[in-house]
Amino acid sequence: VVEKKLTLALAGNPNAGKTTLFNALTGARQSVGNYPGVTVEKREGYIQVDGQRINVVDLPGIYSLTAYSQEELVARDFLVNERPHVVIDILDANSLDRNLYLAVQFMELGIPLVLALNMMDEVRKSGKRIDTPKLSHLLGIPIVETIARIGEGKQELIQQAIAHVQETQGRWKPLDLSYGPDIDAALMDMIELITSHHFLTDQYPPRWVALKYMEGDFQIKMLGQKAGSIGQELSGIVEKLEEHCRVTLDTSPEAIIADYRYGFIASVTLQGVITVTGHRERIAVSDKIDRVLTHQIIGPSLMIAVLYLMFLATFTIGEIPMGWMESFFAWAGDMIGRLIPDGLVRSIIVDGVIAGVGGVLGFVPLIMIMFLGIAFLEDSGYMARMAYMMDRVLRIFGLHGCSVMPFIVAGGIPGGCAVPGIMGTRTLRSPKEKLATLLVTPFMPCGAKVPVFLLLGAAFFDNAATVLFWITIGAWVSALLVAWVLRNTIIRGEATPFVMELPPYRLPTLKGLCIHTWERAWQYVKKAGTVILAISVLIWGAMTFPLLPREKVEEFDAQREYIQTQMAQAQTPGLKQKHAEEIARVDGLQAEASLKNSLAGRLGKSLEPLTRLAGFDWRTNIALIGGFAAKEVIVSTLGTAYSLGGAEGDPSIGLGVRLQNDPQWNPLTAISMIIFVMLYAPCFVTVVAMSKESSWQWAVFAVISTTILAFAASVTVYQGGRLFYPLP
Ligand code: GDP
Ligand code: MG
Repeated sequence: VVEKKLTLALAGNPNAGKTTLFNALTGARQSVGNYPGVTVEKREGYIQVDGQRINVVDLPGIYSLTAYSQEELVARDFLVNERPHVVIDILDANSLDRNLYLAVQFMELGIPLVLALNMMDEVRKSGKRIDTPKLSHLLGIPIVETIARIGEGKQELIQQAIAHVQETQGRWKPLDLSYGPDIDAALMDMIELITSHHFLTDQYPPRWVALKYMEGDFQIKMLGQKAGSIGQELSGIVEKLEEHCRVTLDTSPEAIIADYRYGFIASVTLQGVITVTGHRERIAVSDKIDRVLTHQIIGPSLMIAVLYLMFLATFTIGEIPMGWMESFFAWAGDMIGRLIPDGLVRSIIVDGVIAGVGGVLGFVPLIMIMFLGIAFLEDSGYMARMAYMMDRVLRIFGLHGCSVMPFIVAGGIPGGCAVPGIMGTRTLRSPKEKLATLLVTPFMPCGAKVPVFLLLGAAFFDNAATVLFWITIGAWVSALLVAWVLRNTIIRGEATPFVMELPPYRLPTLKGLCIHTWERAWQYVKKAGTVILAISVLIWGAMTFPLLPREKVEEFDAQREYIQTQMAQAQTPGLKQKHAEEIARVDGLQAEASLKNSLAGRLGKSLEPLTRLAGFDWRTNIALIGGFAAKEVIVSTLGTAYSLGGAEGDPSIGLGVRLQNDPQWNPLTAISMIIFVMLYAPCFVTVVAMSKESSWQWAVFAVISTTILAFAASVTVYQGGRLFYPLP
């Protein structure tokens, strides 16, 4: 049996000690030539290990794997064309951060990699200490300390390299870094294009090709041009992204990518990998800020303060424009109600369209302020630090620091959306941690659930902001507990070390913040304008048809007529007033009878015996069923149900007041509903996103299990509450 010869490539920054190590390894068994067509030097040699011959290639010194220079191009072509079995990246350990930058790019390419921390003699002399086992554990890569000049560590290095070849079996496993929301979104589009066109996919991971495009790699761009339309489409996406980054962050994609790579390194070295015992060396501004902001005690306290402040600001400022929006829609409903004669057309416009869409748009000012806060946290780089600090806590529950981003984006600070949150779980590198995160992310109070909470909070408790604060805490606790249960039962497995991207701190620009806020808000409005409008009308239809039978309508008409004749004969204003109230009562009864008779009413009614246990009547049931389609629909459906069927038919009375006056509703019902809405099945779009990120089986599992959990929790709280606070 002839074994395939092992090839081992030495790579690293210039002056890291490659050639010295190469000489130490190969001795005299070497040859020097040039790479074909270029004047870049090519050194090759071999070593003998246990009778096996191993080829060693000394690659030219490089700083990056992007083709900026001839050296870089040669080194990269060698890696993808010759596919050496393993790369030994030699790092000058004196400046570990800077040297790790190349290592990270090898990791992104996915090629089997072993690191040599060279110049350890100088490091030790300088009084710096490097925790190599920890670094190796965090990066998930074998690392050996070397002093190339005296050959120290070279035996172990070769052994580790051979062991790594056997372990990886020639498989390339690319590391996916996150580069922040702007770049990640464009990357996703590009990856889809690259994969479907099979553009260079036999040589590089698709994500890597997309990144090189963003970094302006001339070789890859040239290949794209030759490949035709795919090149133009990719360039188009990159140009748009460049413009976007320039306008929002005043920088280029290339710079952002570098920032996040350094951020990834920072999150490794921040964890006590390097200790300086001797004199203090100069440290970057971001590192200085990090010493305070991620301090063991100051850090978490500050984080809670920041979140709480954001919360207060949102509500104190948001209340004012929200009031305007509410009165505007009430006024619009009233006006149009007067212009159009009574009947189905008026009903569809006032009760369907205006009540539905108005219920959703009313919250836009508030949600925009929340988005502004989130944009600030993201653009400034603080969000990533929150992940870093949260890792210690999340770890206890079997999650990872990177889980915090999906949570926050999905509404961990109320007002997000679960769909980008679910997509954000891609930054989690362990499949089990990803799955656990994915399954509990939808518990967070997303922008569509917030209106439900605010409505009930304002109607039944003193302070809606405080209520939402406790709901947010409750959502986090639920997510963590459920994750803990999952990680100890069906998705058991080991935890992975915390390594993620900590980009440098930057002062966000006002323009950038506004654009990022607007992008999110616009998505929300668009959804209200299309999907929710359609669903509102659909639900209106289900709540209107079949119409009440003619005899029933005539019965109500007769009652009204009878009261009217009495009213005409009434002597005193007091008596007249009483009759007018009677008529309103009959109107209400008729509306309620029609709603009960409708399709939605019947469905809600048939579920009522069960949902009564949690305190939900048939109207609430209709709204909750609508919430499966989109959570925004809950408030709009409640609005429609209570304006169609409420005894207090006056449309100028807010929904909150109508609920307060309804005998079915009390604080306990409100709490029960809040819990149910917090936990039950994610909306349809989220379920689709979940199935894409995991599998449809897990998505179905999520829908069923969360609804059961939600119902159980609501029933427990409602029934328990009734024991302590007996209600009339
Ligand atoms: P290359 O550019 O990566 O090929 O680096 P070289 O092998 O040419 O080494 C650059 C310089 O670093 C030379 O002067 C080496 O003697 C020195 N050097 C290499 N390894 C070590 C080491 O482990 N310790 C110390 N102190 N110097 C080293
Ligand atoms: Mg050299």
